[in-house]
Amino acid sequence: MPASQTHQHLIAGTSRDASDGALFDKFEPSSGALLAKVAAGTARDVDAAVSAARAQFDGGEWSRMPGAARGRLLHRLADLLERDAERFVELLAREQGRPVMEMRMLDLPMSIDTLRYFAGWADKLEGRQIPTGGFMGRPTLNYTVRSPLGVAALIIPWNAPLMIACWKLAPALAAGCTVVLKPSEDAPLAVGALARLTLEAGFPPGVVNLVHGMGPAVGAALVDHPGVDKVSFTGSTSVGRQIAQAAGPQFKRLTLELGGKAPQILLEDAVLEQAIGGLVMGLFVDQGQTCAAGSRILVHRRHYEDVVGALADAARSLKVGDPFDPGTQMGALISARHADRVRSHIDTALTEGAKMVAGSEALPAGGYFVRPTIFADVRPSMRIARDEVFGPVGAVIPFDTDDEAVALANDTAYGLSASLWTQNVAKAHQIAGRLRVGAVAVNGWSPLDARLPWGGFKDSGVGRDLSRSALDGYLEEKVVTVVM
Ligand code: NAD
Repeated sequence: MPASQTHQHLIAGTSRDASDGALFDKFEPSSGALLAKVAAGTARDVDAAVSAARAQFDGGEWSRMPGAARGRLLHRLADLLERDAERFVELLAREQGRPVMEMRMLDLPMSIDTLRYFAGWADKLEGRQIPTGGFMGRPTLNYTVRSPLGVAALIIPWNAPLMIACWKLAPALAAGCTVVLKPSEDAPLAVGALARLTLEAGFPPGVVNLVHGMGPAVGAALVDHPGVDKVSFTGSTSVGRQIAQAAGPQFKRLTLELGGKAPQILLEDAVLEQAIGGLVMGLFVDQGQTCAAGSRILVHRRHYEDVVGALADAARSLKVGDPFDPGTQMGALISARHADRVRSHIDTALTEGAKMVAGSEALPAGGYFVRPTIFADVRPSMRIARDEVFGPVGAVIPFDTDDEAVALANDTAYGLSASLWTQNVAKAHQIAGRLRVGAVAVNGWSPLDARLPWGGFKDSGVGRDLSRSALDGYLEEKVVTVVM
């Protein structure tokens, strides 16, 4: 397949330019050079993609395909992704600027595993038989049927594009939905290549469609389109709020995976040597550009100075640079605009009086690099302790009691994830129960796994990706009552 095709839309199994021929530029984060020109989709392109998905859902080959066959296709897609893993690692490193090491360890294995996990569910969409007292003196047989919701719009962010596309694509296809993928304009290439692999795997044309382009043009047109039954979105809380407002009046089903400001809590009895590596990973993986980034590090006062020193040392020692160098531990941020946004968070923290203990060292030239940065003397009211930075910046805050730690952890609009470091098992369970978040990791950082639900409380979103819960998000439940 020519590389340029991945820059076109995929509609009804064919690669197409935008209806008006428009293109947008995608730059390579680690060098700032032009990487690709990509189709800038229009509302007409969205309409064509939704029509193709509708036709397959309403009466195409897909609508008659048994679950076991859908599962076989998903396994075949996983096989192809395994075969092409290095091609995807390269595409992701080029378009995201992230180190190849991370892609090999996390994104590719997790994407493949997610496809296989949901492949296994495709022929297990069972209903229930429910006994009742009958109807007007006559016995009844009551059973439920679970059927696919219809056409799903899958709107993907740039920070882990392949992995998050698989998180949404796999349960949607296992459930029997058809889809229109909308990749982020900042990371369109790997998702474009994944969509093409579905054709090679044997999915009928029109089951998986893809429209490239800008959020306000393509994403918003998908959310508004009457032919779309479900929107699954991962991205910022502000765009998630706009989508909820637009989709609400049409009663579209919604899954929204939004922002975070995750606390990493280190209790008095934690073993520092074990915890520091986990705190560093939780903070800096993907250059801190993850919704689960543990950017608020809450530390018992007894350990405060030691933890600040250890985190500062770790931040200073990280090798920042070329994503293709196997020794690189931190790459570039996604775009010049985003790197500027992260630097402005750093400036605000300094203005508000936080103390930078790591972050002023030199950076590689060119590219959108930001130095791993640690702030001490952070007060909970400061912006650096409250706003989602989505970059390699941590704020370390002391506490004196467990109750204070829980109060600080919950003192945020977000509620995606948290980590907790302690040797006391009973305390770990108690505190995990009090944290208002969708995922708590004890003595580790949010281990992502296809079998575990992923999603947030509060402003971190609605619904769940991954696990059986995600599957339910692509199914309707119907009850049939037979009066006998
Ligand atoms: P973003 O909200 O800017 O964009 C996400 C996607 O939405 C992109 O494809 C974009 O084109 C599209 N979009 C933009 N405006 C739109 C509109 N009006 N209507 C419909 N679609 C629109 O987010 P981003 O910058 O790509 O990603 C970063 C954000 O994603 C962070 O806030 C992060 O926390 C969040 N995120 C959350 C999770 C999670 O699982 N909770 C995972 C990854 C990222």
